[in-house]
Amino acid sequence: MTATDTLSNASPADLTEEEKKRILAKSAQFSPPSAVLPDGRTELVGLSRAELEQLLVDMGEQRFRTKQLWHWIYHKGATDFNEMTSIGKPLRAKLIDRCVISRPKVVTEQTSKDETRKFLFQFRDGQEAETVYIPDRRADRGAVCISSQVGCTLSCRFCHTGTQNLVRNLGSSEIISQFMAARDSYGEWPTPTADRPRLLSTIVLMGMGEPLYNYENIAKAMRIAMDDEGIGISRRRITLSTSGVVPMMDQCGHDLAVNLAISLHAVRDDLRNEIVPLNRKYPIKDVLAACRRYPAASNSRRITFEYIMLRGINDSEADARELVRLLKGIHAKVNLIPFNPWPGSDYKPSKGEQVQKFADIIMQAGYSSPIRTPRGRDILAACGQLRTESQRVRASEKGLDDVM
Ligand code: SF4
Repeated sequence: MTATDTLSNASPADLTEEEKKRILAKSAQFSPPSAVLPDGRTELVGLSRAELEQLLVDMGEQRFRTKQLWHWIYHKGATDFNEMTSIGKPLRAKLIDRCVISRPKVVTEQTSKDETRKFLFQFRDGQEAETVYIPDRRADRGAVCISSQVGCTLSCRFCHTGTQNLVRNLGSSEIISQFMAARDSYGEWPTPTADRPRLLSTIVLMGMGEPLYNYENIAKAMRIAMDDEGIGISRRRITLSTSGVVPMMDQCGHDLAVNLAISLHAVRDDLRNEIVPLNRKYPIKDVLAACRRYPAASNSRRITFEYIMLRGINDSEADARELVRLLKGIHAKVNLIPFNPWPGSDYKPSKGEQVQKFADIIMQAGYSSPIRTPRGRDILAACGQLRTESQRVRASEKGLDDVM
């Protein structure tokens, strides 16, 4: 039997499994550095509970110590083993000798006029990624927008990050520690309780990179974020944004059931092929079919469709009507995002009145269609603008600004 015969005999479910394996194998080629440091100590942040327990057992300790250690790391935010007064001195001494609890280095921390805060973090191997805290003006809370990769493979045309090649995936430690370092910055440890609300109340996986191309590390980090005995952020307060990696959308729905956001941005395949090139692999109808079967989508949990408004490109009333037709049967919300131009970008933002007309058509069809206010524009923290500042600074030092 030839390979072609095998493929033609395969069921759609087999093909999806094959595709999933291919994506995971590809992702492994961009692995982050190991949790074991060159000096032999182990980074505890980012280990699953089972891994932490195994590490303690290997050190000759009782399993129940896992819960104590987890509480110190993820509830109290401790980074120094000497603070862990509920743990006996002999174990603390072992932990000091063999383990570390770290945070990425804060290279820059900028706060916008609108109070959005952008961090540039540097990891152990010198790679960098950006994280943004976006406060909700109507309440004492906000969202931490986390990066999943250094760079990105997808080259969406409206996105500044997409102009930076993929360097590598971020590890579970690097993903969850972006949130933990942001919490350090706001002094939000220990994890607030119901009577003391928290500012950093939501996670959005919408920073640099395509999270579903780094699925295993994202899943591990989000399980840590959701753990009730630590950070304790509910799955309803976590949103994963994807350009539409269909086989992994199914996996994510099955494993994590967090909220889903789709970077749609166009209603016709020919245009979406151009704006979001991943569409050539997973066209609009396949992405929408995956949304229809996404398990977390129910009356109380809508799928968000992100739609960046590009003047004369995707913002006509006919586009809005086609969007309504495509979304039929999906419990959806459409976020209309004004385009944030960056040096060298091809597009212009849609005019205000055109955005309003577009929003009205969607709203009249019964979908919520908020027009997003750009946040953190003055510090290049707005949607689609993330790209490591350090890279720009180094480029300008080398006189490379015009070619980047
Ligand atoms: S929008 Fe997201 S997936 Fe597309 S290039 Fe930018 S970071 Fe990558």
